[in-house]
Amino acid sequence: MAGRRRFLGLTAAALAAPLVVRAQPVLDADVAVIGAGAAGIAAARQLIDWEYDVALLEARDRVGGRAWTDGAALGLGWDLGAQWLHNGRANPLRAEARALGLALTDSDFEDMQVTRGGAGPDDAARVALFGALMRLDGRIDAAARTVPRDATLADIATGDSLDSATLRLSALSMGGDPEQVSLIDAAALESGEDVLVAGGTGGLFRALARDLPVFLGHEATTIDLRPADHVEVSGGFGTLRAGVVLVTLPPSVLARGALRITPGLPSWKGEAFAALGAADFLKVGLRMAAPVPDLPEFAVDLAALEHGQAALLHVDPRMPVASVIFAGSHASALRSEGRRAVTGAARAVLRHHAGAEAVAEVTHDWAADPLSLGPWARVRPGADTARDDYAEPVDGRLFFAGEAAPGPLATTLGGAWQSGIAAAGAIWEAT
Ligand SMILES: Cc1cc2nc3c(=O)[nH]c(=O)nc-3n(C[C@H](O)[C@H](O)[C@H](O)COP(=O)(O)OP(=O)(O)OC[C@H]3O[C@@H](n4cnc5c(N)ncnc54)[C@H](O)[C@@H]3O)c2cc1C
Repeated sequence: MAGRRRFLGLTAAALAAPLVVRAQPVLDADVAVIGAGAAGIAAARQLIDWEYDVALLEARDRVGGRAWTDGAALGLGWDLGAQWLHNGRANPLRAEARALGLALTDSDFEDMQVTRGGAGPDDAARVALFGALMRLDGRIDAAARTVPRDATLADIATGDSLDSATLRLSALSMGGDPEQVSLIDAAALESGEDVLVAGGTGGLFRALARDLPVFLGHEATTIDLRPADHVEVSGGFGTLRAGVVLVTLPPSVLARGALRITPGLPSWKGEAFAALGAADFLKVGLRMAAPVPDLPEFAVDLAALEHGQAALLHVDPRMPVASVIFAGSHASALRSEGRRAVTGAARAVLRHHAGAEAVAEVTHDWAADPLSLGPWARVRPGADTARDDYAEPVDGRLFFAGEAAPGPLATTLGGAWQSGIAAAGAIWEAT
């Protein structure tokens, strides 16, 4: 591997250095990885394991990206972004967390409190909802083999009110309304048991990035592929020269042109970024005065779902903190009314299910965060090659990874991690 990482202070060093004519440029790193979220951290760890010299550039003043645990607002660590390791058994992060000695807690989805308006918990409704959810999985898999490419979850609706609530709950997990969620994409994703990690997912990624060569506050703004023997990555920090570059930015951020790439990318890349628009998903953390006894971990109101209001309550089994999740058009309508409307609606959900008031609240507007522009990417129905196109390398030197990449865990931390490992493998093959 070429590397000699020394690009910090490069300009001063270059000015002071005697003029030397080199046949080959001395590179600052073998691989520049842009973005220290799950994908970037996974790729950097794998590449360093294979003895590549890596520079991991992160625009924020912290690692983890959309895995961010805040301890200040609620007085207890709460995940402003990703909270669960989804599909625990298939999720490689479960083993990583274990290896770090972090305690894992299985979430219990099935013992859910189900209400139908103000009449209190309704066990018959819970049994009916879980039966309908199980049947829906089968219907999605069967329909995906025959429906047109642009079919959505709404295309398999039966018109029955329980079915409509079930579809909305299923679409909530993908950050959309049934009309917005691609049926073919939904069928390609796998779900399974969810796991909470001690210290939050932000803490997990801080630990996973501990010994990595991370450069915080390094926002990359341009990539120049014109030099034949290296790639130049530039920003306010100066210019880094690397053999290859791995980009892990969300497609919405790339679609907005946050990274100017020269020469321009092929048109199918831009189309893929545009087809992977941001999901609509809001999460509010609420601190309760005390734990509420006998309250199941999850709660949902069928009447609200049937009226198009996708909302879900999660009560942390380990501490007096609840999360309220909103998705789809309900989330975007609340967002457009402002933060007070979002937190007020979250407080009302907690009151409805737990009869409890919140003593503190916190939320982060990921859609307005310029380095994320949304919680994760949702495939536009019909754009069934978008995930593959997003992840496809360009020019043998420009690689892509992140939650938007294809795979059964796409949209999640586990999927981002797997795509980072896959990109490291592709870099190995290419170099
Ligand atoms: C509210 C919410 C709830 C969620 N819940 C879950 C959940 O429970 N479980 C789950 O698995 N997933 C969940 N997700 C999704 C999960 O957070 C993402 O799938 C995952 O974090 C994406 O990782 P990534 O590496 O692809 O992207 P990111 O984490 O976004 O990493 C990209 C990094 O690039 C940096 N960056 C951006 N632009 C530049 C630039 N120009 N130069 C340098 N750096 C730059 C960003 O700051 C960021 O650190 C949730 C997300 C949100 C927002």
